[in-house]
Amino acid sequence: MAVREREVKSAKRSRQLQLLSVPPYRPTALPILDERLRGTKFVSLEPKSVLNSPQQTGVDFWSLNPYIGCEFGCTYCYARYAHRYTVERAHDAGKLTDDEFVEFRGPHGWEAFERRVFVKETLLGALERDLRRYFRSADPAHPAAPIVIGTATDPYQPAERRFRLTRGVLERLARCDGLNVGIITKSPLIARDTDVLRRLQECSDLEVHISLTTVDVALIRQVEARSPMPAVRLRALKRLADAGVRVGLIVAPVLPGITDDIPHLEALFQAAREAGARFVHAGPLRLYPAVRDRFLPMLEERFPDLVARYRRAYEGRSGVPGDYARALAARITRLQARFGFPVNQGMTDRYGRRQAPAQRELGL
Ligand code: SF4
Repeated sequence: MAVREREVKSAKRSRQLQLLSVPPYRPTALPILDERLRGTKFVSLEPKSVLNSPQQTGVDFWSLNPYIGCEFGCTYCYARYAHRYTVERAHDAGKLTDDEFVEFRGPHGWEAFERRVFVKETLLGALERDLRRYFRSADPAHPAAPIVIGTATDPYQPAERRFRLTRGVLERLARCDGLNVGIITKSPLIARDTDVLRRLQECSDLEVHISLTTVDVALIRQVEARSPMPAVRLRALKRLADAGVRVGLIVAPVLPGITDDIPHLEALFQAAREAGARFVHAGPLRLYPAVRDRFLPMLEERFPDLVARYRRAYEGRSGVPGDYARALAARITRLQARFGFPVNQGMTDRYGRRQAPAQRELGL
């Protein structure tokens, strides 16, 4: 065979082989469920389990979070570390390529929390198994251990409008008797589920916590990138209260030097009163390592006068100094009494806490 003819045959064979070749093996890539124009991607994640036990998290309640990541993008959010951990695990398992890994971390390691939201699409199957575990562990001599939804990411973040996972969870819990359920959210979308919340409340103990750090619209945009405005959150609170749902306000975190002054807090208590809240709880900022990466640059840019104070107060710890915590608790207690709300120190009174949860343990 002439040399030229052999070359043509060999080129053809290698082209055929290229066409037949399969891409490098990847166990199961993470399917993209939806994408927004601004670049947010919603990624399917198959959970083995969704209900975190107190033993897993170090707190006295069970917790459940249908999403990992949150488009609201609060600068003080402590759940960013868990997103990072999920991304690292997916990369280690070969479900994200090296390039995707970089994309799922973001330039500073925290942006992707707001732009790559993991959706626990198949959580209802996992919940069924977990409920069996939950009921097996129950002590008939004691009231049911609380189940709190939204301890790490917002269960009514924008993704919920499409995926309706939180609603599915509530529908399932509404078929149980004698539970003790708490929900924490910043989103008015919760009012969509008033019907199922009412059903749940008929057979279980339910408390809804609408989270709001300030009624100051300009200020809220400094610290929460895309959260719903105060007025719409308060309207949702009122809608739930009017429908008979036990709902209150959670003011967390209170930001030292930014939202802890009396006029700020009074405005929140007043708004809660007018909206029909049954309680108001509050707690100070915890500056976990993963929060510092995002929060401190914001502070330097927008509140430069406070940087030195924060560095001093949070040096070597995540919590505020004891005297600040006591002063804030006393201020909140006085306001609770003045505005006619039950007086206590916060959510821990209801749900209890054996120990401060470690960063990695905050139960996603
Ligand atoms: S709404 Fe909650 S979960 Fe979402 S970013 Fe803000 S603090 Fe984090």
